[in-house]
This record gives sequence, structure tokens and C-alpha cells, in this order.
Amino acid sequence: MAKKELEVRLISIPDNLLDVVYTACRTCYSPDGAVEIYENHTGDKEKMLSLIKKVISSGHYSTIEHIQLSFAINNISRAATHQLVRHRHMSFSQKSQRYVREKGEIDYVIPPAIEANRELCRKFENFIKITSDLYQEFINNGIKSEDARSILPNAAVSSIVTSLNLRELIHLANLRLCTRAQLEIRMVVKKMCALVEEKEPWLAEHLVPKCERLGYCDEDNSCGRMKTKNG
Ligand SMILES: Cc1cc2nc3c(=O)[nH]c(=O)nc-3n(C[C@H](O)[C@H](O)[C@H](O)COP(=O)(O)OP(=O)(O)OC[C@H]3O[C@@H](n4cnc5c(N)ncnc54)[C@H](O)[C@@H]3O)c2cc1C
Repeated sequence: MAKKELEVRLISIPDNLLDVVYTACRTCYSPDGAVEIYENHTGDKEKMLSLIKKVISSGHYSTIEHIQLSFAINNISRAATHQLVRHRHMSFSQKSQRYVREKGEIDYVIPPAIEANRELCRKFENFIKITSDLYQEFINNGIKSEDARSILPNAAVSSIVTSLNLRELIHLANLRLCTRAQLEIRMVVKKMCALVEEKEPWLAEHLVPKCERLGYCDEDNSCGRMKTKNG
């Protein structure tokens, strides 16, 4: 049995991200054709960013849907992947609990709030051990993994590849960086955003919780970062 730490890698991002978004933006407003815009633009980064920022802030989001990003994620709980897969503009390939049989004791993700309490942490680990033993007993008695998995906990680790476009990443960040979102998915999305920002720092201002985009908190109770609409 082992507690596992989250791993996130950005496995695909276009090298010419700015060229693509700039071409999409300028195509909408220029008498020139898309081909000429793409082939003839000067590559002046400042000029490209200035237009791109203006277009995005006006809500013209189709221009950033052309950018496809892929991530590989290890050691994420099934509880967190279940939240991630609710996002309908993302694509997923997740390790199967039908085809991949658990061996020995189950690897798990433990919420920090439980881990911080010695007694609760011990009970949590004991539960994982009992569950692992029962899973193996099922397997040893000829039960297929697709049925034995029915007792695996939400804490069991998973592995997932996900792809999404830049518009959806911004939406994901807006929802899941909010302190209302559960800590684990917040951490996953934070790492995804940080990896993208390493490549494209100008995106940092968009990869923020929704309150920063709205200018107020739209939840019933604010975490304190922003006031609610009615103060
Ligand atoms: C803090 C928090 C708590 C949550 N709690 C719960 C809960 O208790 N129970 C629960 O079931 N879910 C819960 N969710 C999940 C939530 O309801 C959404 O399913 C999830 O956040 C995906 O959001 P989305 O639909 O905006 O995003 P996406 O599926 O990523 O879609 C992006 C956007 O595309 C548009 N869109 C996509 N599909 C459609 C469609 N079919 N029709 C019209 N427009 C569409 C919408 O504008 C949508 O915002 C929670 C989410 C958060 C962030």
C-alpha cells in the first residue's frame, strides 16, 4: 500500500501557438485571406499579443479553440478524475479498472485534511488495507477485475491522459481554481495551468478563478478573495 503524489506533464502544446491564434484573430477583421495572414505576418510578438489580448477580452473565444493541449496525469484519485470527466469539451483516456488488475495493496491518494489527523489517517490506511485484502480475495476466487473493482474506494489512484482546447482550459481554470472546488482537483488544474504558463506566460492572466474574470464572487459566500456581487 502506498500513498501517491500527483504527477502532471504537459505532453503536447503547439510550438506556433501565437501564430495560430493571431491568424485566427486577424482573419476575422482583415481584408487579407487567412493564408496570406499566416504566411506573411512579421512574427512581431508584441503586435501579435496586443491583438490577441484585445480579441480575447472582447469574448471572441473561438479564436483560441484552435489550440489543442494534452496532459498526462499520474496518481490522481478516482474522486478527482470523476470530477474532471464532467467537463464535456475535454477528451480522456483513463486507466481501466476492468482490464488492469490491482496487484497487492491499493495505491491511494489521501486528502491532506485526513492525513493531518493521526488517528483518522490510521483508520483510513486500515480501511485501504482491508479493501485491498478483500479485492485480492475476490480475484483469488475467480472474480473478474471488472467486478472486483466495485469495492475500490474513491481514493484509489488512477492515471489519465486528457486533451482540451485553450478555451476549455480557461473555463476549467475559472471553475476549478475557485476555492469552492475540492482541493485535489484544484491542485491538478493548478499544475496544468502552471505548465502552460511556463510555455506561454501571457496566458497567466486568463488561467484564474472565475472571480478574477468576473470582478466579483458569484458564490453565496466569498472565500475573501473578492466580494460577492452584493458586497
Ligand atoms: C465547485 C463545484 C461543485 C460542483 N458540484 C457538483 C455537484 O454537487 N453535483 C454535480 O452533478 N456536479 C457538480 N459539479 C459539476 C458541474 O455541475 C459541471 O458539471 C462541471 O463543473 C462542468 O462544468 P461545465 O458544464 O460548465 O463545463 P463543460 O462541460 O466543460 O462545458 C463548458 C461550457 O460549454 C457549454 N456546454 C457544454 N455542454 C453543454 C450542453 N449540453 N448544453 C449547453 N451548454 C453546454 C456550457 O456553457 C459550459 O459551461 C460541480 C462543479 C464545481 C466547480
